[in-house]
Amino acid sequence: MSMLEVNNLEVRYGRIRAIEKLDLTVERGEIVTLIGANGAGKTTTMRAIAGLLAASRGSIRFEDRDITKLKAYKRVPLGISLVPEGRGIFGSMTVMENLDMGTYSRSGKKADSELDRVFELFPRLAERRTQAGGTMSGGEQQMLAIARALMARPDMLLLDEPSMGLAPQFIRQIFRIIKEINAQGTTVLLVEQNANQALAIANHALVLESGRITKTGTGRELLADPSIKEAYLGVA
Ligand code: ATP
Repeated sequence: MSMLEVNNLEVRYGRIRAIEKLDLTVERGEIVTLIGANGAGKTTTMRAIAGLLAASRGSIRFEDRDITKLKAYKRVPLGISLVPEGRGIFGSMTVMENLDMGTYSRSGKKADSELDRVFELFPRLAERRTQAGGTMSGGEQQMLAIARALMARPDMLLLDEPSMGLAPQFIRQIFRIIKEINAQGTTVLLVEQNANQALAIANHALVLESGRITKTGTGRELLADPSIKEAYLGVA
């Protein structure tokens, strides 16, 4: 049994079919990367898995349970946390308050040990715990968004373009942290424009084009694929 099994998924915005016939599986412990051009349907896929968009067809199973019709807030306690594109942190709240918001989503778990883990991963957030989220740099805000998602102790972390808009030193740091989070036992589904680094850390990867999966393989296979190189890795 795979941890996440998406079968024949279709998601629509009214008459527009953003995703169709999408199959995707994620095994426990993996990093799976989804790459694709702007508008390919990456964010739609992530939001559907998190429960923020309804499937008009197909099914989503998590840990052998059908969650296709489950509301987003009921998926969090099952172990699915989304770090949305654009981060979605609360700008006027402090770092601590933002992190506290994350713990509400998965009750019955000890928040203190999570806070220790999160501050170990992101020492900068510990230093800035009383600072308003909105006054931090883009990289720090991204760290806060990931940290907040981790406060819910997810078994699977959905990361939607975590490196977007960040300076190169933050991008390297974010990818290092994703690997670390995975090494600590959290399964990761990653959406990225930054295909090079995202494929380099992936066990498996998929290419999404116009709402359909057009290629799958190991991260290494897709990194070496000439058509991928040309389309996504900036190598002619
Ligand atoms: P990006 O990298 O630009 O975020 P993406 O791969 O995440 O792209 P999606 O945001 O999932 O792509 O969009 C997939 C398709 O659905 C696109 O054609 C987009 O125009 C369309 N779409 C997305 N959101 C909406 C919406 N709220 N209403 C109508 N169409 C939408």
